[in-house]
Amino acid sequence: MTNTITKDIVHCQELLRNNELVAIPTETVYGLAANIYNDEAVRKIFEMKGRPLFNPLIVHIHHLDQLSSLAKSVPEAATKLAARFWPGPLTLILEKNASVSDLVTAGKSTVAIRMPNHSLTLELLQGLDFPVAAPSANPFTRVSSTSAQHVADYFGNRIPAILDGGSCTVGLESTIVGFDGETTVVYRKGGISLEAIKACVGKVRLLTKNEKAPEAPGMLAKHYSPGTKLILSDGILKTMEGFTNQKIGVLAFHEANFANATMVETLSEKRDLDEAAQNLFAALHRLDQADLDVIIAQRFPNEGLGISINDRLERAGN
Ligand code: AMP
Ligand code: MG
Repeated sequence: MTNTITKDIVHCQELLRNNELVAIPTETVYGLAANIYNDEAVRKIFEMKGRPLFNPLIVHIHHLDQLSSLAKSVPEAATKLAARFWPGPLTLILEKNASVSDLVTAGKSTVAIRMPNHSLTLELLQGLDFPVAAPSANPFTRVSSTSAQHVADYFGNRIPAILDGGSCTVGLESTIVGFDGETTVVYRKGGISLEAIKACVGKVRLLTKNEKAPEAPGMLAKHYSPGTKLILSDGILKTMEGFTNQKIGVLAFHEANFANATMVETLSEKRDLDEAAQNLFAALHRLDQADLDVIIAQRFPNEGLGISINDRLERAGN
């Protein structure tokens, strides 16, 4: 353990007040947090991650009252979704107030906001008089961190503190939604399933290909990538035949016979997609550290969080 891993919330609050970075636990993945009202602090996030400045950040709040200082207006569907899913893995894209810096929103007229469901981080935020901006705590395009140790492995002592809140319970980034009139638009598939969003607000559509480029520059094709080549496969054994005499890592839903694999990671023996999501990134980190020639990942069932898992694996394979 590096000495930056801590459970000292007061120390982390001090650092944030002094415009330093702190890695924070959330139910989705660990975030790299800074005071949204200090551009110097926010700039450190981009520098630490190697993240391009055109990629906007998500603002993290602890109370609904904070919405009015951040957003110009809150559509009815957004109010419904917040009531149903916050605190939780859902991010709302709303028209921003002038007080939110262009650095946070990458010059957009909208701001992304979420209330994370993690007791330590909610306590941390309650003691601050500003929200924090926090993208995932990993270098740009790499696999997200779902434990304090993952963050330390990436950044070591370059982050002043990593607040240790254990392993993330959801394990996938938030689902991001925006609003187009009465319709809720899904920008990023994530920790809340599309089915659950539909059940809450009815009129839902996915972002179209044309909207993607200008509206969500962060939805880059290459993302969540291990250093090792990754292939998303509809038939693992068949795909393995193309890699004879090579060190193959398999990422599968549950145990099966993968006799020629050097390493096998299974995500849920009881075939539960929520459990699989929770285990996904830690398994990818382990496979990536195992000096393999290739990782072959199974395509997951196209329902519930399986849809979000497949989205991550598709990008990891690019
Ligand atoms: P990360 O926290 O690293 O998972 O990334 C945050 C994601 O939120 C990025 O992919 C951004 O593209 C997206 N995002 C943040 N703000 C906005 C916004 N105003 N409009 C659209 N997408 C946004
Ligand atoms: Mg990210």
